[in-house]
Amino acid sequence: MQATATRRLYYSLKDYLKEKYGRRVQKITVALPFTCPNIDGTKARGGCTYCFSGTRPAHLEPYIPLRQQIEEGIRRAKNRYGERLYFFIYYQSYSNTYGEYEYLKSVYDTALEFEEVVGIDVGTRPDCVPEWVLDLLESYSKRGLEVWVEYGLQSANFKTLRFINRAHGVSDFVDAVLRTKKRNLKVCAHIILGLPYEDQEDMLETGKLIASLPVDGIKIHPLHIIKNTKMAEQYLRGEFAVLSLQEYAKRAVDILEILPPQMVIHRLTGEVEPDRLIAPDYCTYAKKQEVIKAIEEELVRRGSYQGCKQPFNR
Ligand code: SF4
Repeated sequence: MQATATRRLYYSLKDYLKEKYGRRVQKITVALPFTCPNIDGTKARGGCTYCFSGTRPAHLEPYIPLRQQIEEGIRRAKNRYGERLYFFIYYQSYSNTYGEYEYLKSVYDTALEFEEVVGIDVGTRPDCVPEWVLDLLESYSKRGLEVWVEYGLQSANFKTLRFINRAHGVSDFVDAVLRTKKRNLKVCAHIILGLPYEDQEDMLETGKLIASLPVDGIKIHPLHIIKNTKMAEQYLRGEFAVLSLQEYAKRAVDILEILPPQMVIHRLTGEVEPDRLIAPDYCTYAKKQEVIKAIEEELVRRGSYQGCKQPFNR
C-alpha cells in the first residue's frame, strides 16, 4: 500500500519519521547482555510465560561489542537503502534500563558517537525506571537525540498479567507513563492481543487505557507461542487457542479506531523465525506484510481509520 494511502488509515512510524526528518530513518536493533528483574529473582523468576531470550531476535548477539553492532547495522542499511539515511538505535531485548548508572550511560553514550544517529529507542519494563534513569534518558534529549521509552503493558487486565507472570501491575504502567511524560521523552506502549482467556472487551479495555494516557506511540502484537516457553506447554496441552489472522485483524482495527489520530503506530504485528514458532503461522517475517494487509483491508471494509471512534467514551 502507498505511504499516502497508509497515512489515511493510520499514522505509521515510517510516516512520522519521514515528516519529522525529511528522509528515511532506519532503526538499528542492538542486543546487550542485560537481564530482567522478572528473570533474576528481583521481582520474580522464570520471566513472562511467553518470553524466550528476552524476546531477542535469533540473529542478534549480545556479546558483539555495541559499536560494532551499530556500524554493521548502518552498513547493511546503506547497502539496502542508499547513503541518505538517519538512524535510531533500538535497545531491544530484556530490560534496557536495568543496570548500574555507569553501564547504562556507556551504552546510551555510544549512540552519540554516530553523526547520523538522531534518536534512541529504549525497551524496558514499567517498573524499571527510577527517577535517576529518567534523568539519564532525558539528558540525551537535551543533547539533541529523540528519546523513546518503550514500556510493555501487554494487557490492562490484572488477572491476565498475573497469569502470564508479568510481575507488575497496570498501576506500574500508568505511573511510569505519567512520570516519563513529565520530561522531554516519548512513550511507546506494547500490547498483546489474544492473550489467554481474554475476550474482545478485555482487549478493547487495554486499548482504551492506552488511548486515555499521554502515550505517543504503540506496538500492537498478536500473541504468538514460541518453543521452549511455559506458554508453549500450556498451549500444547490445549488450554487456550490463538487468534486466526482474520480475528487478529479485527481486534487490531478495534484498537486503531479508538486511538488518538496523532498516536504513532510503531508496529501492527510480531514475528519470529519459523523454527522457533509454534503458532499462529502468520507470525513469521515472511508473512509480516500479509498481516498488515489484512488489517488495512479490515479498516477499508469497515470504512474506518485510526481515531474514528475518538473520543471513545463520549
Ligand atoms: S519483561 Fe520482557 S525480558 Fe522480562 S521476562 Fe517479560 S518479556 Fe522477558
